[in-house]
Amino acid sequence: MTKDIDARCAEMVKSIETDATATGSHTGREKFSARVLTAIREVPRHKFVREGDQARAYANGPLPIGQGQTISQPYIVALMTDLLDLTGAERVLEIGMGSGYQTAILAGLAAHVYCVEILPDLATAAEARVRALGHTNLSVRVGDGHAGWPEHAPYDAILVAAGASAVPDALLAQLKPGGRMVVPVGRGRTTQELLVVSKDAAGKLSQRSALPVAFVPLVKG
Ligand code: SAH
Repeated sequence: MTKDIDARCAEMVKSIETDATATGSHTGREKFSARVLTAIREVPRHKFVREGDQARAYANGPLPIGQGQTISQPYIVALMTDLLDLTGAERVLEIGMGSGYQTAILAGLAAHVYCVEILPDLATAAEARVRALGHTNLSVRVGDGHAGWPEHAPYDAILVAAGASAVPDALLAQLKPGGRMVVPVGRGRTTQELLVVSKDAAGKLSQRSALPVAFVPLVKG
C-alpha cells in the first residue's frame, strides 16, 4: 500500500513538472524549485480528500471536498507555492484552507502559517489533518479573509486560494515590504488571473499575471 502511494505520488510530481514546462513561458517558472517538489512529495494527499476519492488523490486535478469547495489541483498548488519563493524563515498568511493540503505544504516550507477560513467545519478538519502530520507551526482563525489577520501582520508572503473580484486592500496593507502575494483575481465567477503582487522595500506595489485559473469564489462574510 505504502509503495503504491509513493509510486502514485511520484507520478503526480512528474505530471506537475510536465505542466510547469508547458506553462513556463506564461508563468516564468519552467521548473519549480527542488525544495517545493520535496515538500509536495512529503504531504500524503490521500489524507486530504474524501474517503471515496482516495483512488484519485494523486491525479493531477482538483477534487470536491464538500460544502461546494474543492482541494486545488496539485500543479496549481505547486505553482502558487513556487511563486512565493519561501526559504524557511517566512511568516505566511493563507486565505481559504479548504482541505488543509496547501497549508501542510506551506507549513513544511515556512516558519509559521496563519490561516483564515470562512467555513468553521472545514477549518476544524483542515487544522486537524495538518497537525496529524506533526506540524505545529500554524494558527487558524475562522472568518472572512478579505480582512486578513491584522494582529499578526505584516506577512512575508500571502497566498489566497479563492477567486477575488479585486485584490483585497487589507491584504495589500498586511504584506511586508519585500514580500509577495499570489491571488486569483477576476470578475467572472469561474475564471480568474493568478496575480503575483510584489511590494518592494520602499513599499511600492507591482503585479503581473502568471496564469488564467479557475478557483471557487472568495465569498464575502
Ligand atoms: N487550497 C485549498 C483549497 C481552497 S478552496 C486546498 O487545496 O484544499 C477555497 C477555500 O476558500 C474554501 O475552503 C472556502 O471556504 C474558502 N473561502 C472562500 N471565501 C473565503 C473568505 N472570504 N475567507 C476565507 N476563506 C474563504
